[in-house]
Amino acid sequence: MDFNLTEEHRMIRDMARDFAQKEIAPIAAKLDEEALFPAETVRKMGELGFMGIEVPEEYGGVGMDTLAYVLALIEISKACASHGAIMSVNNSLVCYGLLRYGTEEQREAFLVPLASGDKLGAYSLTEPQAGSDPAEMRCSAVYNPEADEYVINGVKAWVTSGPCADYIVLFAMTDKSQGHRGISAFIVDTTLPGFSPGKVEPKLGIRASHTSELIFDNYHLSAFHRLGKEGDGFKIALSILDAGRIGIAAQSVGIAEAAYEAARDYAKERVQFGQTIASFQAIQWMLADMKTKIEASRLLTYQAAFTKDEAKATGGRYSLEASIAKLFASETAMWVATKAVQIFGGNGYSKEYPVERHFRDAKITEIYEGTSEIQRMVIARSILG
Ligand SMILES: Cc1cc2nc3c(=O)[nH]c(=O)nc-3n(C[C@H](O)[C@H](O)[C@H](O)COP(=O)(O)OP(=O)(O)OC[C@H]3O[C@@H](n4cnc5c(N)ncnc54)[C@H](O)[C@@H]3O)c2cc1C
Repeated sequence: MDFNLTEEHRMIRDMARDFAQKEIAPIAAKLDEEALFPAETVRKMGELGFMGIEVPEEYGGVGMDTLAYVLALIEISKACASHGAIMSVNNSLVCYGLLRYGTEEQREAFLVPLASGDKLGAYSLTEPQAGSDPAEMRCSAVYNPEADEYVINGVKAWVTSGPCADYIVLFAMTDKSQGHRGISAFIVDTTLPGFSPGKVEPKLGIRASHTSELIFDNYHLSAFHRLGKEGDGFKIALSILDAGRIGIAAQSVGIAEAAYEAARDYAKERVQFGQTIASFQAIQWMLADMKTKIEASRLLTYQAAFTKDEAKATGGRYSLEASIAKLFASETAMWVATKAVQIFGGNGYSKEYPVERHFRDAKITEIYEGTSEIQRMVIARSILG
């Protein structure tokens, strides 16, 4: 096994690091404070190819592998977790879904502009009463054979980039009597009448990533926009989430690294009892444990990326590896950020220092794209059969 990155992998990591540190890190605190959507830096991320890293060049992407995506996403999230959320949704929940389940015509129409960063994508599974259990969804899509179109009605909840997206991968019930087998997937055009984003959520963290409800009121969508077969939506949703969870693991590693590095540097400068706090064993052990957990998270994330790339050739699954990486890396991000606040003492509780933001941002990684409890269920099912 070779743990060295290839020249190509180092190149994309360094390019993302350079861009993130020069253009995103200096504005991250202000974006968070004012909850501003970073349209300009997201546009530049598109120009650099970061919005469709794994998408083949013929469909507007840069045609690299999942490890390349993970390496870039860690660097972007380290500078600002909100940019990480926007990037991961566009890449792994939207572009991946279109690449895997879209027809050639759908890829041409939607994937090309999304992967090149001309358009922004979102993914909408959750509803107010259907979170961990999406089979409880009520949003309906009724087929009208005469017009060869669906009429969609309902309210979706908690959609990352919901108020800013051009296209949204939507899951809606086409046959309620079939339970989760009655769910179908669509690619929604947000410019058509009958669509509006609802309430924008006031959030604890990732405040520059805007999250909203979606309201569909007699929204007409031609059958061309259906992704996969009718009734395949649940299967598609879960398979896309496997890819997404690798992205959230990478986002977690980035947040944890940012919190750890800030705490390490602070510990070397802050003096109490006539010496730097880094000279106290209690602080050293915290830093040692933080570093150890981050490196373990990084390797689990790389392993999940590697397994996904293998699965492209073999058609195999990678749900187990993706859930393990997401579970461990997200709980590490929260743990590391908590310790970072502790090392900063009172200053850790202040908005004047960055670890307060990392602490708030870390929490979401344990919740979205399947909570930690849901990841443990996926892992347990996989190991117990
Ligand atoms: C900032 C943000 C962005 C989001 N972005 C998106 C998005 O882009 N698209 C989208 O579709 N969704 C999105 N979500 C929704 C997110 O995926 C859900 O919040 C998440 O899946 C949990 O669902 P819930 O909030 O309804 O919690 P619930 O399902 O109500 O869970 C509440 C608690 O019960 C636990 N629980 C539930 N079922 C079980 C069980 N069987 N066993 C043990 N414990 C259980 C959960 O782990 C949790 O601790 C986002 C959420 C947030 C907060």
